[in-house]
Amino acid sequence: MSDTTALEGALAGLSNAVRAGRTLLVALDFDGVLAPLVDVPSRSRATPEGAAALRRLSGADGVRLALISGRGLADLAAVAEVPDGTLLVGSHGAEVGAWDGGLRPGDPALDDEQSSLLARAADELSRLVEGTTARIEVKPTTVVLHTRGVPTQDTDRLVDAALALGERLDLDTMAGRDIVELSVLRVTKGDALRELRSGTGAGPVLFAGDDVTDERAMAVLGPGDVAIRVGDGESVAPYRVADPEAMARTLHRLADLLGS
Ligand SMILES: [Mg+2]
Repeated sequence: MSDTTALEGALAGLSNAVRAGRTLLVALDFDGVLAPLVDVPSRSRATPEGAAALRRLSGADGVRLALISGRGLADLAAVAEVPDGTLLVGSHGAEVGAWDGGLRPGDPALDDEQSSLLARAADELSRLVEGTTARIEVKPTTVVLHTRGVPTQDTDRLVDAALALGERLDLDTMAGRDIVELSVLRVTKGDALRELRSGTGAGPVLFAGDDVTDERAMAVLGPGDVAIRVGDGESVAPYRVADPEAMARTLHRLADLLGS
């Protein structure tokens, strides 16, 4: 059986489940899945074919649409151009909202204890950067040290101090180019997908992703679900398509089968 035939069979299984009255959750990563990868993230957009496929699926009875991205929620909403009613999950699952003519952010992701931990981290980090040109940014679930343009000796000291702070407060710590990000939540796209499935009451799930973080989501899928890897790279997904154009064709095929 060719890959294409196997995927066709899997899509037919999903549409049969919908015909039998179950809800199908179509949850997709954005960059590299709906949108080709670009150098400037703010210019990233879904292919016209992919955007059209989402509009068709959003009109299908028994289908819920969601995007699950590593982007911050507001950042995702700014580029996604999704149909109304699409669920948007940002920061790998730490931020949840929906698109309804504009972004409707969900409940705050943090409980009281986590909020005060975030405030404490922000406060301590603010004191660390006093007298330097570094700045801090407080996001919904993380606090970020920005060291772009800061003299090297200050940067080295601040990065070390920020990492030590993260360890002391037991935060999830990520050092990137000119940033250190301290998060009070440890969430993965797998956690996000589980939440989406229970929140929507979905039966089967179709999930597609193109990167390592997406594998965490694919790992929580079970029989009757469909995981699709877009592009190259090792994957647990049983199905694979080449690129966002091929992903768009797959979504159109699903819409065909659903009669939408
Ligand atoms: Mg991606």
